[in-house]
Parts: sequence; structure tokens; C-alpha cells
Amino acid sequence: MKHYLRIGGVVELSTVDIPQRACSVVFLAGCNFDCVFCQNSTLIPVNSGELIELTKLLNVIYKNILIDSVSITGGEPLLQPTLIPLCQELKKSFYVSVDTNGSLPRVTSELVNIVDRIALDLKCEFSRYTSITQTSSNTLENVMQSFNIINSSSVVDFEVRTTVVPELIMKDDIEAISRFLASHSFRGVYVLQQFWNEGDVRELKNITSPTRNKLIELAEVSINQGVQKVAIRTREKGYELIS
Ligand code: SF4
Repeated sequence: MKHYLRIGGVVELSTVDIPQRACSVVFLAGCNFDCVFCQNSTLIPVNSGELIELTKLLNVIYKNILIDSVSITGGEPLLQPTLIPLCQELKKSFYVSVDTNGSLPRVTSELVNIVDRIALDLKCEFSRYTSITQTSSNTLENVMQSFNIINSSSVVDFEVRTTVVPELIMKDDIEAISRFLASHSFRGVYVLQQFWNEGDVRELKNITSPTRNKLIELAEVSINQGVQKVAIRTREKGYELIS
């Protein structure tokens, strides 16, 4: 039986997405959130992107001799049923990482036993979750379940990430998320990533990217709340571990 995926594109080489690795980045189309700061908003509709057969996508990735890993992002990758066979195939040759918004804990519980790394978004202070993601009220409950599933796994590398968006997601959010992580024995790396106001951003056209110094300042806020491993991700310097 042929398997298909709906993809938004493939970036052949990135050294930013997975720490210390050269990866290809596969963008899967379709998302069940509608975040106000989404930087890939053209991938939100479930019928966006292009339908591609799994073997054809694998052939594109296998041809790339520069990579040792593959990062699967979106959209929300866990919405696509072919994600699991895709990861199973890629695992035979690569370190495999998947990004998720955390809304699908049932799929997350399958994925933790297949891939090498999961990067989970914690988008904002939790009382603002519904308004920032423009989704229904049980969203946060699902995200918390996904967090617990990944955090209690001993086999998968774990990144939690927050995109820092000036005027929208700042110190109060980082403090609240950091308090949560510190009080839940978070075992992974908390990454503050820079909002890039370009491409598919719809609603925040006048907001500029936070500086690297601002991210370092916020990383210190997180460390002061008790998070053990904190990093930043910027366009200027890529991934930098701060503590
Ligand atoms: S979860 Fe990610 S892809 Fe989906 S709307 Fe939010 S930022 Fe965009």
C-alpha cells in the first residue's frame, strides 16, 4: 500500500534546528492551531502544501550526503497518519527529530518510542493559551499530557521551546513557563527562540525580532526560576547553550 504525506517543502541543509547536527528539515502541512504569531501560516490549512508519496520523499532525503539527521516540522506533523511510517523509515539511517504543538498526546506516546528527539512548544503563560493559539479550551490539557509523556520517557531527547515575540510573549510568559518546568522535574533543554518577522507572518507586521541580548536576558530569567538547561536560538548565532 502506498503512503502519502502533505508537505510544504524540504530545506536541504540546516545547522540550526538540531543542536550539533546537520539536518534536512521537512515541513508537513496542516495545523490544528492558529497562533497569532505563526511564521508558517500558509501551512495551517489542512489542504495546503503538496501531496507526495512517502518513498519519493525518502528518496529526496537519502540523496543528501551532507546530513546526519532529519527534523520534521510544520504545521503540526502529528496530524498526518504517515508521520509514523516516515519516522520508522528515517530512523534506519538518521537521527530523527519531530516538532509538535503538543495537542495530540496519543500520537506523542507512539512517537517517543520511535524518534530520537521531540521539540515541544510551550507557547505562552498558560492562562493565555486559548487566545494565543486561537483554539478550544481543552488544548492546554492535551499539551500538558504530551509534556508528561515526553518528560517521563528515558529514551527520547527533549526540547521545550518558546518563541519570544516582543509585546506579545515576553518576561511574564518565560517566568511562568520556567516555574512550571522547574516544578515538574523537566529533564530536557528549554530553548528561547527568536521570532522572525518575515515570510508568512500575518498579524504582527510591525513587530521586530527580539535581539540576541534580549534572549540572553530572558534565559537568565528562566535560570533564576530554577530551569537547569537553557539555550537560545537566533539567526545571528544559531543554537547557544546559556546554562
Ligand atoms: S502550532 Fe506552529 S504551525 Fe501551528 S499555528 Fe501555531 S505556530 Fe503555526
